[in-house]
Amino acid sequence: MSLDIPHKPDRIKVIEPVAIITKDERKERIKKAGYNVFNLRAQDIYVDLLTDSGTGAMSQQQWASLMRGDESYAGSRSFERFAAAVHDIFGFRHLLPTHQGRAAENILFSAMVSANDIIPNNMHFDTTRANILANGGQPVDLVIEEAYEPEKVVPFKGNMDTNKLLALINEVGRERIPLIMMTVTNNTGGGQPVSLSNLREVSRIAREHRIPFFIDACRFAENAFFIREREEGYEDVSPIEIAREMFSLADGMTMSAKKDGLANIGGILAMNDAEILDATRDRLILMEGFVTYGGLAGRDLEAIAVGLYEVLDLDYLRDRVGQVSYLGAGLKENGIPIVEPTGGHGIYIDIHRLLPNFPQREFPGLSFVVELYIQSGVRAVEIGSVMFARKGEDGKEIFPKLELVRLAIPRRTYTRTHLDAVIEGATVVASHKARLSGYRIAKGEGPLRHFIARFEPIMHG
Ligand SMILES: *Cc1c(COP(=O)(O)O)cnc(C)c1O
Repeated sequence: MSLDIPHKPDRIKVIEPVAIITKDERKERIKKAGYNVFNLRAQDIYVDLLTDSGTGAMSQQQWASLMRGDESYAGSRSFERFAAAVHDIFGFRHLLPTHQGRAAENILFSAMVSANDIIPNNMHFDTTRANILANGGQPVDLVIEEAYEPEKVVPFKGNMDTNKLLALINEVGRERIPLIMMTVTNNTGGGQPVSLSNLREVSRIAREHRIPFFIDACRFAENAFFIREREEGYEDVSPIEIAREMFSLADGMTMSAKKDGLANIGGILAMNDAEILDATRDRLILMEGFVTYGGLAGRDLEAIAVGLYEVLDLDYLRDRVGQVSYLGAGLKENGIPIVEPTGGHGIYIDIHRLLPNFPQREFPGLSFVVELYIQSGVRAVEIGSVMFARKGEDGKEIFPKLELVRLAIPRRTYTRTHLDAVIEGATVVASHKARLSGYRIAKGEGPLRHFIARFEPIMHG
């Protein structure tokens, strides 16, 4: 086989049955769920693209490693293996395991963020934003303007606009900026990568102003793959070497191991500064567990230690990013507008372009998601007004610039047959888009309302 033909670097050894219920049953289930797909039962779903977080398939090496799990409360061998992998790949001096990425965020921000502080990022992920707000800080997005133009093809659409960063530091002063963050890849903006040269520039600015620089590393391997594919001079550099260079530019990181840890649970907080470690350690023990397990079982630490290397395998990354571009190409061919270029972990349908006359206050993205489930049993997620619309100081609703529906692809889980069903379902929904109904919130408000709210259709005319 020629190396140019993308090949699947694995085959299936264990299967998990999925059932398909009828369209009438799906109509009834989604109504009962308050038209919020977070309230559906997994067994009523055919292809679950709600998230790529913790939903991936583990390898035989990972399953085998679970048997090695050392469940000692303190100082386990599993922690040692986990710590060795994290040090080897990311290089930071100190690390703490956590049960998820958001726990790493909360513990870091509770130590570093005070009231009225401002935390810049290319684009904050929703839990990052919520954790900063919960600690009295103010999250600010400084991604390049092209990120808000879904049709614009730029190789590193997740980059931070460093002029915006400098202007912010000048405006508010470095004292009010306890840390600068960068999310790789930029999940909220379409899974778009950040270039090494941009990371270098942000790092330089951070050091010049003596502001700690942290990377939200959830999809670091996918980001490294895009650097190899798209950044000059890296076409022959291995993903692990690229990753090491990325993290050598930062002072620390937060990470969800449920993404590029290839594990079903887990998180990492790492940093170079011993003072930050001291400030976070007590809280970790209070909230998560002792410093050598942080809310995880020893076997979870083993799975992550193996997964962090597997995720950097070039054949794995080619297949992974290849699945995403296959889904994107299929949707585009059928006239469904998507965010371009396609990113690392999923496809983002551009709802503004698909439904230009659908008012944002009636949640066009949610409407598409509900109909996609009814048509084909596919679970997608709205990343638009349900998630991000906020009341301004004058009480008026402020709507987000982007109205997206995300189809996140779990790692190593679905085949082309599944992806073809997604393409077919979305195409049917798009073909009767004029008949989609609007929605209003029946119950559940607040910054996490997309998880909990119940909706009802708006009857027109
Ligand atoms: C998933 C995610 C998080 C939070 O991680 P959890 O493990 O879900 O708590 C933070 N940042 C980004 C970019 C993410 O994708």
